[in-house]
Amino acid sequence: MIFRQLFDPQSSTYTYLLADSREALLIDPVFEQARRDVALVEELGLKLAWTLETHVHADHVTGAWLLRERLKSRIALSKESGAEGADRFLVPGEKISFGKRVLEARPTPGHTNGCMTYVLDDRSMAFTGDALLIRGCGRTDFQQGDAHSLFRSVRDQVFSLPDACLLYPGHDYRGLTATSVGEEKLYNPRLAESIGEEDFVGYMTHLGLPHPKQMEHAVPANLHCGKPKVAPREEADWAPLTYTFAGIWEVQPAWLEEHLREVQIVDVREPDEFNGVLGHLPGARLLPLGSLAEKQGTLEKERPVVVVCRSGARSAQATVILGKAGFQRVANLSGGMLRWRAQRLAVEGGSDA
Ligand code: FE
Repeated sequence: MIFRQLFDPQSSTYTYLLADSREALLIDPVFEQARRDVALVEELGLKLAWTLETHVHADHVTGAWLLRERLKSRIALSKESGAEGADRFLVPGEKISFGKRVLEARPTPGHTNGCMTYVLDDRSMAFTGDALLIRGCGRTDFQQGDAHSLFRSVRDQVFSLPDACLLYPGHDYRGLTATSVGEEKLYNPRLAESIGEEDFVGYMTHLGLPHPKQMEHAVPANLHCGKPKVAPREEADWAPLTYTFAGIWEVQPAWLEEHLREVQIVDVREPDEFNGVLGHLPGARLLPLGSLAEKQGTLEKERPVVVVCRSGARSAQATVILGKAGFQRVANLSGGMLRWRAQRLAVEGGSDA
């Protein structure tokens, strides 16, 4: 089984990728990270079958709708969530399969009505959303929150799993990534086994937290599975770009060859390489990486820029530098001069030896 834990720094949300036999699902994807998630799914050669929500979030908008648009994945979340537009509304005990593996949906209400914890078939892992956090738990003071029912959810549905079962929460704000049932039974300051229901309820009633910043727009959007009111802008209007998991926009040599005159080609190698055996692209301008930040003012901001180096590594860095300098239409030539030459595309200079 493939397992990845992904993080959205803006909302401190964890997204989980699970896959078996090339079939994948994502738990709690984040709208702003959909591009990252698509790139990872594609680079790992997976087919995204499902996105699952642990609940209707108040602190970020889900990426479920956007991922369905891009990858044809299907959306599942609890029937109790009250959300519209999902492909599947889960009831207690329902099984979601991916490849040969299965997740069981266990209802764990209390933070919201529709909270679900997803438990892996061999009970080695569970995804608790905001029902149980590492040494903490989700708040119970809005969105149908109820401390009594959260207490019972955690005790009956989560603490009934084996002590060694790893728990993966919906968020962490201190840099922790996972915990286990045994650990939380002992050390959770709100829900440890030594703590009574009334103690917990008293604790939760007096938290006095401000409402999450994103709540007013996140909850209505999530009740529609993250469908935006206005369709998001096309990714890139000037070329068929791909976005890598490393965070770089790339263009393929075959496209560039046919559009050489429409873009500014910037070669960021050193002068001896530019004039060396590999040659350079027709019309390329030499601006070595070390002087790029200082010389970027000599480029036109209105025309797209394609950056080139030997293998595509230095030029990837150059796209970041130009992005920071305010260039919005910048892409890396995938594979650099090496791939360009391997595809026998036109060069100036160089030798055929
Ligand atoms: Fe939440």
